[in-house]
Amino acid sequence: MKITSVSAVYPNYKHTVPSWRTHLWQIVVRVETDVGQTGWGYGGGGKAAVEIINGHFAEILVGKQVNSISDISDVWDFLYSESIPYGRKGVAIMALSGVDLALYDVLGKAEAKPVAGLLDHKIKPRIRCYATGTDTDYYAELGFTAQKMPHRWTGDDSILGAVNVAEKARAALGSEAEVMFDVYMSWNSEATLKMHDALKHVGIHWYEDVLTPDDLREIGNLRRQIRPVNMAGGEHEFTAHGFAQIARAQAYDIWQPDITWCGGITAGLRVVEMAKEAKAEVVPHRGGEPWGLHLIAASDCADFAELLPGVRGGGTDDLWIGAPEPVNGYIEISDEPGFGVTPNEEMF
Ligand SMILES: [Mg+2]
Repeated sequence: MKITSVSAVYPNYKHTVPSWRTHLWQIVVRVETDVGQTGWGYGGGGKAAVEIINGHFAEILVGKQVNSISDISDVWDFLYSESIPYGRKGVAIMALSGVDLALYDVLGKAEAKPVAGLLDHKIKPRIRCYATGTDTDYYAELGFTAQKMPHRWTGDDSILGAVNVAEKARAALGSEAEVMFDVYMSWNSEATLKMHDALKHVGIHWYEDVLTPDDLREIGNLRRQIRPVNMAGGEHEFTAHGFAQIARAQAYDIWQPDITWCGGITAGLRVVEMAKEAKAEVVPHRGGEPWGLHLIAASDCADFAELLPGVRGGGTDDLWIGAPEPVNGYIEISDEPGFGVTPNEEMF
């Protein structure tokens, strides 16, 4: 099957979080082929990534053959190499992710298999989910047994608030529950050790993004000091080249590539292989969405998928039709060919 056209669009969102997400949130990629199958992909990088795809990638992709996973891997290497002058990380790789996922989707459709079925691996029938957000009671009612809470360091006075929400989550979700914190690069080394000390009695599963991803060596130092609590990160890293630096620094116990940002399933598979060697677990960022979920289901990723259920009664943009919903804190991939989802084109 030959690629006949590639295009990207930035959906008209009503519920993105300010400020970078207003302009640089997720894009939809469409790939057409000469056998009449259409592939849909999901990438990051917003309007800038749309420009990269429509202005550069589209032109050099037409005519490429895509008949196997190995062909997709070759296309990936080609796009990576062609975009090196302005790429390697960030928006260009977010754009490449969308193309890679559209190619996986169309290959799955051509072979009448879900994407997980294209990967040569035993498939996990259902995957445990964790809820990222603040509405503990709502998540408990939905059946989640794991919650990751945001925390922003604003000084010693922000310690007590974190202890309160962690204790509440432990009480509401149970003694077997996993309780995690995502601090979005707002802590420093001192704050990390203070928080670790204050939260010891709750039993935290991981701390995520304690420092910026440019500080891998210090994150690795902190990792050794907070054991057996896990250090997590990686949503702001790109491709296996980027994760090789994480491996060298021994920065994280839990690697969190975002499959719609880090280079798609192709990069995800390479990162999972590297993590095995580094003895790290892979828990993809937003792994409960179809793109991460198919990788989790059919690879050595941990049995743990992130969902963002928001808060009770909150609004969302329903961009993808057919995405599986969690039931009692677990989620299953659909059996539909490809990723099993189509975009709501009314948002284009
Ligand atoms: Mg995060």
